[in-house]
Amino acid sequence: MADKFDVIVIGAGPGGYTAAIRCAQLGFSTACIDKSQDKSGAPVLGGTCLNWGCIPSKALLDVSHKFAEARDHFSELGITIEGVGVDVAKMMARKDKVVAQLTGGIATLFKANGVTSIAGCARLLAGKKVEHTNAQGQVSILEAGHVILAPGSVPVAIEPTPLNGELIVDSERALEFTEVPPRLGVIGAGAIGLELGSVWSRLGSEVIILEALEEFLPAADQRIARDGLRILKKQGMDIRLGARVMGSSIEDNAVSIEYVEGDEQNHVEVDKVIVAVGRRPYTEELLAPDSGVNLDERGFIYVNEGCETEAPGVYAVGDVVRGPMLAHKGMEEGMMVAERIAGEKSQVNYDTVPSVIYTHPEIAWVGKTEEELKASGDGYVVGSFPFAASGRALAAADAEGMVKIIADAESDRILGVHVLGPQASELIAEAVIAMEFSASAEDLGLTMFAHPTLSESMHEAALAVGGHAIHMVNRKRSN
Ligand code: FAD
Ligand code: AMP
Repeated sequence: MADKFDVIVIGAGPGGYTAAIRCAQLGFSTACIDKSQDKSGAPVLGGTCLNWGCIPSKALLDVSHKFAEARDHFSELGITIEGVGVDVAKMMARKDKVVAQLTGGIATLFKANGVTSIAGCARLLAGKKVEHTNAQGQVSILEAGHVILAPGSVPVAIEPTPLNGELIVDSERALEFTEVPPRLGVIGAGAIGLELGSVWSRLGSEVIILEALEEFLPAADQRIARDGLRILKKQGMDIRLGARVMGSSIEDNAVSIEYVEGDEQNHVEVDKVIVAVGRRPYTEELLAPDSGVNLDERGFIYVNEGCETEAPGVYAVGDVVRGPMLAHKGMEEGMMVAERIAGEKSQVNYDTVPSVIYTHPEIAWVGKTEEELKASGDGYVVGSFPFAASGRALAAADAEGMVKIIADAESDRILGVHVLGPQASELIAEAVIAMEFSASAEDLGLTMFAHPTLSESMHEAALAVGGHAIHMVNRKRSN
C-alpha cells in the first residue's frame, strides 16, 4: 500500500464515500479509511446511513407498512387474505441482505473508481499526516495533500435511561429486535423516534413515545406537525408531549420509565425502551492535540461555508459539522469539497436541504416554515391543497395530508414547501428543484404535471397561492 495520497478521507459514510469517489473521479490518488465492522467483525463501508441508519430503518418501515396495510386495510379494498402474520427473523434477514448489497456496492464503486479502501482507525496528526491503526494494532503513518474528515455521529445517551443493550437500547439495537415487544417505550419524538416507533407499532407493539418538548416537531411547519400528530396518534401511537424522562428502573425483565409532565410525576411500564434523543458529532480519538483542527462549543468540527477546518488543507463534512444531520447534506458537502480541492467553485445551498420523516403519511419540507416567516415579519402568501381532493391519492386509498406552499407576498418566489402525505419524500424533490431555480409559485402553476398523479397536488397548491386552484374551493391566506 502506498503511504502518500493526494487525498485521504477519514470515514466511509455518505459524506466520506461521496467525497472519496468524487476525488478519484477528478484524478486524485485517494484513500478512504473506515473502522466500522459488521456483526462478524469484517470491515464494512457505508457508515451509519447504510449499516445502522437510513437504509435498515427504511427496509423495516417499508415492510412493516406493507404488513399493516395487509392486516388493517386490504379488506376495505376488497382484497381478502387470511392469516396475515409477520416473521420477524425473516424480515430482519431481508433487511440485512439489503444492507449487505448496498455496503458491498460502495466497495465495488471504490474499486471501479480507484479509491484505496483501508480498514482501521485513523487519527489526524499535524501537517496533514494520518496515523492508521489496523485491526491487529499495527500503526503506520500516511501522508496526504489534503485530508477530508467524515467521522459522522453517534447516538446521544441520557443518564435517566442508561443503555444496557437488551432492554434499554439506542437506535442501532432497535433495528435488531428479534421479536415484537408487547410494550415499547420510545424517548424522543424526533425523526428517529417516530420512525422506529412506527415500525414496531405497525408490527403490534403498544408504543408510548415520551417527548420533553410541548411542541411536536418544532422544526416543521406547525400546521403540518399538528395534522401529522393527529394522524400518528389515530394510528395507535401514544405520543405524550411535555413528558421529560427523569429516571428508570428494571424489574422482572420490564422497565419502568419515570417522567414528569408539568408538575406531575408519572411512570410507564414497558418491555423495551428505545432512546432516540438525538445524535452527537463523533470525534473521539480522531484528532491529535496539534492537528490544528478545532471544535465549536457544541463539539462539532469548526468549518467555514466551504467545509474548510482551521488546519490548512483539512476539510470536514457530514454529521460532524454544523447543519442538519442528514445523509444527503453530507453527500453534497463531500462532493463540494472534492471539487473545491480540484479548484472548482462548488457550493452547497444550505437553504434547500430537504427534511423527511418516513412515517406514514410521510412528512417532508424544504425552506421556511410559516412560523419562521411570521417571526421575521416578511410578507407571504400560503396556498395549500389537501390530498383528499387528489384523484390519484383517493384512487390509491391514501389521501391523508396536504401540500402547503408559502411564497413571498411581493415577488411570489417560493420560500417554503411542506408536505404531509403519501410519498412526501419524493414530492419534496419537486419543491427543492423549484427553489434551487428560484421559481415563483406562478412558475410551478404554469408547469404541466401528469394526471392523475400525487404531484398534481404540488401544482394545485402552487395555483392556490395565486387563489386559483382548480380542484378545490380557494381560500387565499396572506400575511
Ligand atoms: P456516518 O454515516 O456516521 O459515517 C462515519 C463513518 O466514519 C463510520 O463508518 C465510522 O465508523 C467512521 N469513523 C469515525 N471515526 C473514525 C476514525 N477515527 N477512523 C476511521 N473511521 C472512522 N439521514 C437521512 O438523510 N435520511 C434518513 O432517512 C436517515 N435515517 C436515519 C435513521 C437512523 C436510525 C439513524 C441513526 C440515522 C439516520 N439518518 C438519516 C442520518 C444519517 O445516517 C447520517 O446523517 C449520515 O450517516 C451521516 O453521514 P456521515 O458520512 O457524516 O457519517
Ligand atoms: P432529534 O434530535 O430530532 O432526533 O429528537 C430528539 C428528541 O428527544 C428531541 O425532541 C428532544 O426534545 C427529546 N428528548 C431529549 N431528552 C429527553 C428526555 N429526557 N425525555 C424526553 N424527551 C427527550
